[in-house]
Amino acid sequence: MKWILCPVCNHKTRNKIRHDTILENFPLFCPKCKQETLIRVKKSKVILMEEPDAKTQSQ
Ligand SMILES: [Zn+2]
Repeated sequence: MKWILCPVCNHKTRNKIRHDTILENFPLFCPKCKQETLIRVKKSKVILMEEPDAKTQSQ
């Protein structure tokens, strides 16, 4: 078990994952940023789905 780190500020969040945890489109709340970021977790790696202030229209 390990704590999920906020992908924005790298602060510890209140969510834990196991080495085999799989999350998809998980709204991770960071107590430091006080905002939610959408993440996915696979093989204990946290991948940021979308950045909170990203307004990209590229495709
Ligand atoms: Zn944060």
